[in-house]
Amino acid sequence: FKNDLAGFKADLEGIAIEENPALVKQKSRDFFWYSPVLKRQLDHVTADLIVTPKDEAEVVRIMKAAFAHDVPITARGGGTGNYGQAMPLSGGAVLNLAELNKVKSITPGSVVAETGAIVAQIDKETRAHSQQELRMHPSTANTASIGGFVAGGSGGVGSIRWGGLRNLGNVIRLRVVTAEAEPRTLDLTGWDLHKAVHAYGTNGVITEVEMPLTAAYDWVDVLVGFDDWMTAVRYADELAHADGLLLKEIAPIAAPVPHDYFLRHQKFIRREQSVVVLMVAPQSMDAFLAFTQRAKGEVLIRYDQASPADLKGLPPAFELCWNHTTLRALRVDPSITYLQTLYSPPDHIEKIETMTRIFGDEVPGHLEFNRFDGRIAASGLSLVRFTTEARLEEIIRIHEDHGCPIFNPHRYTLEEGGMKQTDEIQLAFKKEVDPKGLLNPGKMIAWEDPNYDYRSQKTYLFPGLQQAS
Ligand code: FAD
Repeated sequence: FKNDLAGFKADLEGIAIEENPALVKQKSRDFFWYSPVLKRQLDHVTADLIVTPKDEAEVVRIMKAAFAHDVPITARGGGTGNYGQAMPLSGGAVLNLAELNKVKSITPGSVVAETGAIVAQIDKETRAHSQQELRMHPSTANTASIGGFVAGGSGGVGSIRWGGLRNLGNVIRLRVVTAEAEPRTLDLTGWDLHKAVHAYGTNGVITEVEMPLTAAYDWVDVLVGFDDWMTAVRYADELAHADGLLLKEIAPIAAPVPHDYFLRHQKFIRREQSVVVLMVAPQSMDAFLAFTQRAKGEVLIRYDQASPADLKGLPPAFELCWNHTTLRALRVDPSITYLQTLYSPPDHIEKIETMTRIFGDEVPGHLEFNRFDGRIAASGLSLVRFTTEARLEEIIRIHEDHGCPIFNPHRYTLEEGGMKQTDEIQLAFKKEVDPKGLLNPGKMIAWEDPNYDYRSQKTYLFPGLQQAS
């Protein structure tokens, strides 16, 4: 890339630009350091400057200037991605979208928000407006942007009921600005959404998001303990299948992780206890307690009945789940890392049992139950007591040999991460909207390397669009 920054800046009169190297570096990073592999590979990465638009018109001006002066553009929301998605491998400008943060309209069943709106803020406004909330949110809801979630995430709290971002209907519309000589704004709907969903900002800059809403309840956070890990797993699976019970989160986590790493909850948990973290609708609480009693689960804490002294300083239950489990472990033991595994039905429980038998405490179990194409599946976010990169690769291979595909969180490209399959339709769209390849360069192998074979039989969370054409 020519990366003519002087020309770029000259075209952006009146738009906020930051060039202080320390601040630029700070906004060039995400949570890539969760992975010892990415930490080694990406630690040095930094942009040349940060540009912060206030509205879509400024985004269009920035993209026009980027095209004219060959400046790479990496979009950034809250910077909470785990795979170095938001890191500018070729330098250039980080496009900080934090100021496009308004909730624009709320109707029964949907919300329109600017890309930089913080996820929890959207829920706050939709609750106040009409007792509605987003169907799902990442456990980083308090810091992540909605556009960053759609462009870099996969699902989260609520996915037990609604599936993931990969499922049609869980995003209604995305508005993107292209990286052309005369940038256009496009509204993507239907299958076209998947050109930009989980594409790391390689296929247009999202400025506006329309998402479906569902009824909001005063969810009750509950922790249930079991002395045996597989009993906790079976309980969670049966609970996920209990059709009449409404839950928003079901996450079993193996001993001794909850006791050792959930420091603020430690006093409620014995070290040998595996814990299932739950969010239960208040109207389901009686039935849920009956179910749990029969399963001989021990209710360790329910937030709706805890004393103010017990609740003081306790994070919400969802901040023990998804990648917050890893974060809490890392804070205590910096050598820990993690994996993302798919245990697909119908034999998901047997697969989990096999992996537990093989790895024991080297790979402590953490599962997120979710709806996967209409069936209940378990996504593994197992912790890994990291020793060497070679051993990590071996652990991944052993999972895959046993029919447990890994979405490798130690890779920064879309394809190697295994979440997103590139295909002819994605590539044709990229050629159209980003002919110079300025958007987040280095993240889409199929674009960089024309010989890359993307037709592999590998399992992808977001499959290619070919079938849909
Ligand atoms: P960023 O990190 O800023 O960006 C993510 C990607 O999207 C980058 O590639 C960036 O270039 C691109 N992007 C951002 N904004 C735009 C835009 N406007 N247009 C185009 N591209 C854009 N993920 C989940 O899915 N579920 C979870 O439950 C979850 N839990 C997490 C817990 C922790 C503790 C951490 C550290 C991460 C977790 N993640 C989770 C990953 C991450 O937080 C989410 O994907 C999050 O929603 C990303 O939002 P963000 O605003 O921080 O995006």
